[in-house]
Amino acid sequence: MEVFGAATAELERLAADLGEPPYRGRQIAGWLYRKNAGNFSAMTDLPAEFRRKLEAASTLFRARTLARSQSADGTTKFLLELSDGQRIESALIPYTDRVTVCVSTQVGCAADCSFCATAAAGLTRNLSGGEIVDQVLTLQGHAGERVTNVVFMGMGEPLLNYDEVIKSVRLINSEVGIAMRKMTISTVGITPRIRKLQSENLQLTLAISLHAPDDDLRRRLIPLAQRYPLNDLIAACRAYAEATGRRVTYEYLLLAAVNDSLTHARKLVGLIKGSLANVNLIPYNTVFGKDYKRPQAGVVKAFRSVLQDAGIETTERFERGHAVSAACGQLSAGAGSGVG
Ligand code: SAH
Repeated sequence: MEVFGAATAELERLAADLGEPPYRGRQIAGWLYRKNAGNFSAMTDLPAEFRRKLEAASTLFRARTLARSQSADGTTKFLLELSDGQRIESALIPYTDRVTVCVSTQVGCAADCSFCATAAAGLTRNLSGGEIVDQVLTLQGHAGERVTNVVFMGMGEPLLNYDEVIKSVRLINSEVGIAMRKMTISTVGITPRIRKLQSENLQLTLAISLHAPDDDLRRRLIPLAQRYPLNDLIAACRAYAEATGRRVTYEYLLLAAVNDSLTHARKLVGLIKGSLANVNLIPYNTVFGKDYKRPQAGVVKAFRSVLQDAGIETTERFERGHAVSAACGQLSAGAGSGVG
């Protein structure tokens, strides 16, 4: 079996199967998730004989870092290679008061968003829970300090890899020690899965990539959204917020002359007003071969004022240190085209 991604209970069973007491499994978990060990020989308090048995009976794979590139604001994008040679990207975003890692959940993506660099190649495969946790710890190793927050905003659609994403969330929580409230799942809005997520009773933050205030425009930007009409999606989000007490974040990518008018802003207000929510306006990150543009600063300001005047808390992504501009598939395209 692959040990990275296994929970403590599974590692206790593995130890027992190899003729050792269960606490040996807890030691392995400590090495994997708290001491960030990359191989069995690093686990120096395990008997040498047991380590040899472990090596024979199991594998310990950690992603290889192929490239990294740092932007002026300190965000570092990583290109990682998985055991089967597939490549993904992750980002490390240091703030003054926290260290955030942005993880991928799939190799590629099936959502086909018209503005996104990941869309072109389609979906290759889901990541395993272990491969998601690996990104957090690999980047923590590079950072040299503890990761405090995890955002599921890299390549892929988290709610279309539901089971492994939830598995990773539980591991990151119980094994790595990051609180549920410090994790954010960003989705194009797979409504039935939002309802399912609510039923798990976790304290995760939910972020919805809204990007349009009506179904017609939305399905042009996010073809997958066709199957999940806005009314129903927003109802599920309101229910999630009420049940968990967690404010839902609506992400709104501003594209010049596409979705940035005052009419769009007013429609957006109509859609989400009165719910436990805030809006995060995202400046478009240029993607080669797509002719979308960022709106002028004045247009962004006017859009934002409409939301704020309606009492909706609104932030702009660049104010938070370019947060996840690293989240749009550019590095994995190959050449390390730099951080947006
Ligand atoms: N599939 C999930 C998570 C990955 S994308 C989702 O859609 O939410 C993370 C965020 O980056 C989404 O809000 C996405 O719409 C946004 N994004 C994609 N391409 C972008 C670009 N070129 N510029 C800015 N944001 C982009």
